[in-house]
Amino acid sequence: MKDYLLVIDQGTTSSRVVLYNKKFRIFDIVHKEFNQHFPNEGWVEHDALEIWNDVKNLIKRILKKNKLLSKNIISIGITNQRETTVIWNKKTGVPIYNAIVWQDRRTGIYCSNLRKKGLQKKIQKITGLELDPYFSATKIKWIFDNVTIAKNNLKNDNLLFGTIDTWLLWNLTEGNSHLTDITNASRTMIFDPKKEEWSNEMLKIFGISKKILPKVVENSFDFGSTKLFGKPITIGGMAGDQQSATIGQACFNKGQSKSTYGTGCFLLMNIGNKFKMSKNRLLTTVAFKINGKKMFCYEGSIFVAGSAIQWLRDNLNFFSSSSETDKLYEKANKNESVYFVPALTGLGAPYWNSNARGTFFGITRNTSKEDIIKATIDSLSYQTYELIECMEKDSKTKINEIKVDGGMVKNNNFILSLSNITQIKIIRPKNIETTSLGAAYLAGLQSGIIKNTKEINKFWEKDKILKSKIPKNKAIANINKWKSTIRAVNKFY
Ligand code: ADP
Repeated sequence: MKDYLLVIDQGTTSSRVVLYNKKFRIFDIVHKEFNQHFPNEGWVEHDALEIWNDVKNLIKRILKKNKLLSKNIISIGITNQRETTVIWNKKTGVPIYNAIVWQDRRTGIYCSNLRKKGLQKKIQKITGLELDPYFSATKIKWIFDNVTIAKNNLKNDNLLFGTIDTWLLWNLTEGNSHLTDITNASRTMIFDPKKEEWSNEMLKIFGISKKILPKVVENSFDFGSTKLFGKPITIGGMAGDQQSATIGQACFNKGQSKSTYGTGCFLLMNIGNKFKMSKNRLLTTVAFKINGKKMFCYEGSIFVAGSAIQWLRDNLNFFSSSSETDKLYEKANKNESVYFVPALTGLGAPYWNSNARGTFFGITRNTSKEDIIKATIDSLSYQTYELIECMEKDSKTKINEIKVDGGMVKNNNFILSLSNITQIKIIRPKNIETTSLGAAYLAGLQSGIIKNTKEINKFWEKDKILKSKIPKNKAIANINKWKSTIRAVNKFY
């Protein structure tokens, strides 16, 4: 009996394997955190082999734990941390360097030089992206410029590039499939999402050979099969984590938006089937391509969200579990006016300032840890507000509601703060694991257990809707104060 969809959700700090039943309810989850490497200031690396071994072992563990065999799995879906770059030797299967993670800023100076040469406009026009170390292109270039094996391998023989989706797929299929999906490809800064092909112009700028690149396909596709767990299981769905969450939140129509609050925060708005460039420093990226239908979205990325909560927990020792912040928020002094700009690893959209650093405003003799916790949580609401403003200007449409998900939205005071500050409806679904859910839908579509995206709408269930409890003029006064603080930080660094 084929009863379950198996999803690999490979995140920035942990890998998860999730079993979904045919009604798209979670049946079981296993997860494992893995090592983060910080070899230099601003550098972040992962051991790609550690990630693969963890994923393989998690699949074995969840099957064994539930007494399942590979024949019980309908299909596999993969969703992953995006942009993170792996280059490996196809003969040995060994990466030639650690995976360079999306958060890594080592190519900052190189990006500034390209900016000085006036390349930002051209890059945005072709890829929809901002010229920033965040994306894969400059990470690939760094490996080819600095890793001896790559430097001496002028013909690029035996070398393959992949983001984590491609790396996992290649290993699952024992080297048979070197593919990526269109959402992951659209985050590399060498892909043209309009023409749906690797861009020769971009490859020339970054000196990257086409030979090493995977083939790009739709999100719901026969990506190949794995024989590592017994009888072959098809890999039927694949999408980058934020696009997968957009699918998991059923944002299939133009104008619908979702915001995920995990390690970072990512607000995506479906803008329909036409590629449009942002004038407000948002990214234009592919939301999904399913059954030949491609949709684009604007994306606003905030690099530090839940990781600021982790910083309060691990570096300042304010509490021992993130969940305590919900109660502590209520104990903050209502008369204190503390603002925190949590630019711990620079500022993302719409400032794109990789040199910015975290800054507190308004600390007094009276300021308590609770005030600092509240200021940190509220800072995510203010940043979300600024992204909404940019999206409304770019799309010329009013955003009336946002569907939210990710670990932070378990915090009721956070989602209330979001609705108070943004003054729009905040909707939390029953399943906040929307990232893995999206990949389950994609695998479900490929295997035929669901026919189209309309059917997915029926599975989406709401948990809570929040509306603002403060008057608009109060929200605006607070937003204006916030804007002056973040602009001061942006100017200072
Ligand atoms: P990711 O998928 O990026 O690893 P998750 O969606 O699992 O992240 O969310 C984890 C993040 O959410 C952590 O940074 C954690 O600090 C934060 N978090 C979890 N629970 C809460 C809570 N109740 N209040 C505030 N933050 C929380």
